Amino acid sequence: MNKEQILKKYYGYDTFRDGQEELIDSILSGKDTFGIMPTGAGKSVCFQVPALILSGITLVVSPLISLMKDQVGTLNQMGVHAAYLNSSLTANQYRLALSYAREGRYKIIYVAPERLLTEEFLDFAKQADISMLSIDEVHCVSQWGQDFRPSYLKIIDFINQLPVRPIVSAFTATATKEVKEDVIRLLGLQKATVVTTGFDRKNLYFAVKSPKDKYAELDSYLKEHRNMSGVIYCATRKAVEEVSLRLEQEGYPVTRYHAGLSDAERHQNQDDFIYDVKPIIVATNAFGMGIDKSNVRFVIHYNMPKNIESYYQEAGRAGRDGERAECILLYGGQDVITNQLFIENNRENEELTDEMLEAVKVRDRERLKKMTFYCVTNDCLRHYILKYFGEKSEKACGDCSNCLTEYESIDITETSIKLIQCVLETRQRFGLMTIVDAVHGSKSAKIKQFRLEEYPSYNSLADITIPRLKQIMNHLVLSGYLELTNSEFSIVKVTAQGKELLEQKETIELKVSKEQKKKEKSSETRNNSKKKAVFSLDTNDKLFDELRVLRLSIARKEKVPPYIIFGDKTLLQMSQTLPTRKEEMLEITGVGEIKYEKYGEQFEEVIRRFQSNTEKK
Ligand code: ADP
Ligand code: ZN
Repeated sequence: MNKEQILKKYYGYDTFRDGQEELIDSILSGKDTFGIMPTGAGKSVCFQVPALILSGITLVVSPLISLMKDQVGTLNQMGVHAAYLNSSLTANQYRLALSYAREGRYKIIYVAPERLLTEEFLDFAKQADISMLSIDEVHCVSQWGQDFRPSYLKIIDFINQLPVRPIVSAFTATATKEVKEDVIRLLGLQKATVVTTGFDRKNLYFAVKSPKDKYAELDSYLKEHRNMSGVIYCATRKAVEEVSLRLEQEGYPVTRYHAGLSDAERHQNQDDFIYDVKPIIVATNAFGMGIDKSNVRFVIHYNMPKNIESYYQEAGRAGRDGERAECILLYGGQDVITNQLFIENNRENEELTDEMLEAVKVRDRERLKKMTFYCVTNDCLRHYILKYFGEKSEKACGDCSNCLTEYESIDITETSIKLIQCVLETRQRFGLMTIVDAVHGSKSAKIKQFRLEEYPSYNSLADITIPRLKQIMNHLVLSGYLELTNSEFSIVKVTAQGKELLEQKETIELKVSKEQKKKEKSSETRNNSKKKAVFSLDTNDKLFDELRVLRLSIARKEKVPPYIIFGDKTLLQMSQTLPTRKEEMLEITGVGEIKYEKYGEQFEEVIRRFQSNTEKK
């Protein structure tokens, strides 16, 4: 079978997505291959399809048990023999799996990195016919990445101990230059084909809101999006507890997840979410890696995360099925402080020396600044993110909260000059908030302590509101008139550009939103695009529900999450095109031959029953 036939037969997909074909062809030509693609782009297909074509076994190194379980479950459902070897197996189960592997029963074997150099595993690997070693989440090898795992550094030793070097392929969603270089060097990739696909996720809508009452904002969002599955990320365990409790009391089907819960409860809650028993989950960032729930329709950040990398990864868990989904960040000034505390108190990695720790902090502060700017910018949010990852994109995407807000320009030259003067007068020793307080004429303890009332700039901008002053300060930082230091407390300094402003008056303008006046045309397009979302179809909602019920009962029987049986997109298509014969079923995206053999007729039956019921009416 060729790659297209495999895609159709096992996965039920007609065409490859961006980058997939190039990566697969490179592997099949025997070259080391490195794929950098965003979450949800379809990396698994890139190593699984060649694994089915290559003559020997493919080993997949993967960092997390849940991730392995999910992928192996999916493969077995599709009719591919696969297994995983990790600490979730008992010693006996492990030995049995290895002996099956020796007999050649598995085409694809997932293995935890810590296992690679164990005697038992090496013994197997040296004798087996291994065609490819594929490394998932490969950024774990780099200390620059979020999730450094020292055991990833041993992968190269493992490769070197094999009698024949297999093809090595590696995949990640982290695109920074440092990570990329580390991967190539630390894994010893040889003349690798590197494919980086675009990071834009077109089906995701991005929004930032700064509501006075975050909970009320959340509540009204959830009311408008009933029956949909979503993740609500909070910065702390405490916030997770509070928000989930309130939501639960109001009757939402919600569960929670954070590192403070027992293993058993975490598993249970995660399953409730994945199996759609409780389609909403409130969680800390401990939740999510390895969660391949494809029908997540929204990811709401109740707090701002620590950097854009984390944000895009977490938000990116929405809409993996390619259908429309929303990523909303609820920003508040307190979020910056919480994150600053996290950075200063971070002792997580005990292997670091003081010097390394300080370097990490400097980097983290810089990243936090960029994250904060995302929350205060008036420019296109998508453009901001893509630019952060070094990707060129349109200046305005037309589909984020900033692009859909109508702005007017106001002249802030005089205000800016006064702010800069205040920073200079007080000898560049204070943070942004203190400067704002000073010009606004605050009588706080800090103002008194440092005698800021005695400077001429004190109270010089009393007539401008504090939020507006903060906005202007942020704008001055963003456009390079001021800068924030990377020390523990961000201190505002005036740049050369800022000093020039005092001499030769250029005009500075600020874009501010015309309150509540959204572009009419845009709200139209929003509504239209919303109609594309899975659950807002009116026509065959009833059939769609019935198909979901069938899917759930099969999933329970087979002990796998519903989306592993069929994705929402597949059921949605069924409810629109009403297939009742095999040829028609195989036309539906996500219905491969093996899955058809297993479940096709049961779904046809439900559709037929639905048709005859509607005819009778
Ligand atoms: P990643 O690992 O890159 O985050 P996955 O491999 O989990 O993404 O794929 C995300 C989703 O996209 C999965 O449900 C997968 O089956 C689906 N997918 C992958 N390739 C294709 C394709 N060519 N056509 C349609 N859907 C695809
Ligand atoms: Zn935009």
